[in-house]
Amino acid sequence: MPPDPTAETPQLTARMLAELPLFEGESPEALEWLLECVNVEAVAAGTVLLTPAEPNSTAWIVLTGRLAVQLERAGEAEIHTYLEEGACVGEMSIIEGAPPSATVVADTDCHLLRLDGHVLWSLINRSHAVARNLLFTFSRRMRDNNQAIVESRAQQRLHERTARIDPLTNLGNRRWLAETLPRLLERCHKNGLPLAVLMLDVDHFKRYNDTLGHLAGDCALRAVAEVIEANVRPTDVAARYGGEEFAIVMPETDAVQARAIAQRLCDAVRACAIHADDGRRLPGVTVSIGLADTRGERDAVEILGAADTALYRAKQNGRDRVESTG
Ligand code: GH3
Ligand code: MG
Ligand code: MG
Repeated sequence: MPPDPTAETPQLTARMLAELPLFEGESPEALEWLLECVNVEAVAAGTVLLTPAEPNSTAWIVLTGRLAVQLERAGEAEIHTYLEEGACVGEMSIIEGAPPSATVVADTDCHLLRLDGHVLWSLINRSHAVARNLLFTFSRRMRDNNQAIVESRAQQRLHERTARIDPLTNLGNRRWLAETLPRLLERCHKNGLPLAVLMLDVDHFKRYNDTLGHLAGDCALRAVAEVIEANVRPTDVAARYGGEEFAIVMPETDAVQARAIAQRLCDAVRACAIHADDGRRLPGVTVSIGLADTRGERDAVEILGAADTALYRAKQNGRDRVESTG
């Protein structure tokens, strides 16, 4: 319900207290004493009630209006949640004897019940119902916070994943390869196993784009990515290295095996029928492939460089072919 700024400060009664969630289970009679110890305060919208910068000794219960709980994120205040009528704030920092964990601001003009710290402690000591209600509040808050953590982790994982995936082909991108290749190299090296890298580049792709359009070019790139995925083993990893360039890392594969796979890929791309998004058949493409293996304990940069040199040779030797270094 929107607050009425002209509303009179409510006249507090023991019955009103008994209806607040914090006092659930207590009779109005048992709360009579409290009327002497608490005040109702009219608080203007924008008033800061709690801040992590200052110790707190007051708990507030919302009687009318709404409070906003703000958390600092990357230097900016962000509203975490709103507290409506009946909600209590500040009690946690009183019980802990620690500064509030968040900033609480009056989001609208409010009427708040003010409970000083010593009054809250007397209540906890005198009333099992109040102690139980506080436990219930804390437990629910912890559950909400845990849920928020789970959601934020999931969000973070999604961001991390998105930053490593090429949206056009759904293959890993260059950044992902830069993280993955050293790990695979190290594992193979440690176990005395070979590893091969293929660098694959679409031939005359500028011409393809220029004559058929960029959208057709995108369809061709997707088709090449699908051919790659269909022709490598589950343990191999493929990435879109750049515009029309792909890299394939093949752990536990020597140069002879890699050459056979590369040739199979080259043939499969040449044979692949490419279709536009509307189903129209597009001209096919060919690829040139450079191959490098782990001879001489090459590191990630060296092996990619060697594959690139081999790719350059494949281009020079007429394209649509496989070349290796050395
Ligand atoms: P080469 O056979 O020597 O590799 O010639 P090329 O024309 O393929 O090579 P070049 O590097 O001159 O051109 C690459 C082209 O790839 C130019 C660029 O427009 C295109 N390209 C890069 N990224 C994308 C993309 O995401 N979508 C599309 N459609 N084209 C792309
Ligand atoms: Mg090219
Ligand atoms: Mg290129």
